[in-house]
Amino acid sequence: MSEQVKFVIVGGGLEGLGIAYSLADRGVRDILVLERATLCSGMTGKSSGVVRCHYGTPSLAAMAKYGVDFLEQAGEVLGEDVGLRQCGYAVGVAQRNVEAMEANVALQQGLGVDVELIDHARMARLWPGLYIDDFAAFAYEPRGGRGDAYLLGMAFAAAARRMGVRIRQGALVTSLLQDGEDGVRGVELADGERVLGGSVILANGAWAPALTAPLGFEVPVQSQRAELVLVDPGEPLPDVPVFSDLIGLQYLCREPNGHVLVGNSDHAAPEYIDPDHYADRAGDATITRVVERLGHRMPDMPDPRVAHSYAGGYDVTPDYNPIIGRAPVTGLFLVTGFSGHGFKIAPAVGRMVAEVLTTGRTSLAGVEPRDFRLSRFAEGEPLLSRHPYEGAGAMR
Ligand SMILES: Cc1cc2nc3c(=O)[nH]c(=O)nc-3n(C[C@H](O)[C@H](O)[C@H](O)COP(=O)(O)OP(=O)(O)OC[C@H]3O[C@@H](n4cnc5c(N)ncnc54)[C@H](O)[C@@H]3O)c2cc1C
Repeated sequence: MSEQVKFVIVGGGLEGLGIAYSLADRGVRDILVLERATLCSGMTGKSSGVVRCHYGTPSLAAMAKYGVDFLEQAGEVLGEDVGLRQCGYAVGVAQRNVEAMEANVALQQGLGVDVELIDHARMARLWPGLYIDDFAAFAYEPRGGRGDAYLLGMAFAAAARRMGVRIRQGALVTSLLQDGEDGVRGVELADGERVLGGSVILANGAWAPALTAPLGFEVPVQSQRAELVLVDPGEPLPDVPVFSDLIGLQYLCREPNGHVLVGNSDHAAPEYIDPDHYADRAGDATITRVVERLGHRMPDMPDPRVAHSYAGGYDVTPDYNPIIGRAPVTGLFLVTGFSGHGFKIAPAVGRMVAEVLTTGRTSLAGVEPRDFRLSRFAEGEPLLSRHPYEGAGAMR
């Protein structure tokens, strides 16, 4: 059995659903999303949902800014609550990174991001009790904070369905159908059914390389283990911003119940995993590191204990930036490798991909689609921060 649609989207995670919504919002109706399991059951369901524009890559900062603008309007636009909590986002650096921070803040301000450098006194007011004496500078985004990737993905799905997009769950794509030697013309499902498409959009995160490998080109995406630890401080944390600690290489978020979610920003020794088979708990070394580094940063916790932990996988590329663009074969569009940025930029990704597919360009201010081309790796032109933070890896 086979059917024909204009756009086939492989992967019902946040990116695939955001693209389906944006295409439909531009009047395209003939779209089929194929999800092997249930919607947002991949890494979207593991996302910390941090919202920040603090990037040293202009396209990424501009996409994050669009994300903030979109999320603020999402209730009205999508008709659903997407869980945005604008508690603010702060980032602290040591002396050696002050110049880079000043340059990054200037870059972001140039793109219209609401961000400023703040002093120790202001930071202490934002998060009383946080140990900050070892930082030399802070940047603060009052409109940053946290959202909920699952809620956003499901809101995109609901809105897309209302506009006529078809979404199938339990639909595992086993191969991309080739058209002669150099093109893709559709997909084959596990039950042998074929779906022919004008364009196939591969938005299946860490699982993309398995489908492209038979086509003879490499999509350099690996799944990098990410461990998250929830700490009960002994009394609920008051409302504080999300904080990126670029000395301890950790990020701290207040959970709705007053616990602290601690994420790792130390990517010096990445561990790669099979995204279908991995231990869904933080290991002993991570727990030890969190106890030490969080204890240093929050010395006044009255009765701290580790409440819970879990793990996921960032779909990382060699430069920790996504691959968004046409594949080196016709009929296939790649949207993968989000490297831990994919929540906040999802609204921009949806719009950019929909615009590029329907008009060949994007109207997103400050965003250069070419930055995300697959060929940048072979060309030796990785997409890197203009003002990297020493010792803090490439994820910002
Ligand atoms: C632990 C963690 C924390 C994060 N924190 C943040 C954050 O704070 N801020 C931020 O901006 N971003 C964050 N991210 C990144 C962001 O959450 C992801 O980039 C984004 O959710 C990925 O969406 P996706 O649609 O690309 O991938 P996924 O959500 O993984 O979706 C891919 C989908 O494709 C399906 N699929 C796979 N293969 C097939 C197939 N062959 N056929 C059919 N379907 C298939 C899968 O089942 C899955 O549902 C985080 C990521 C992780 C893992």
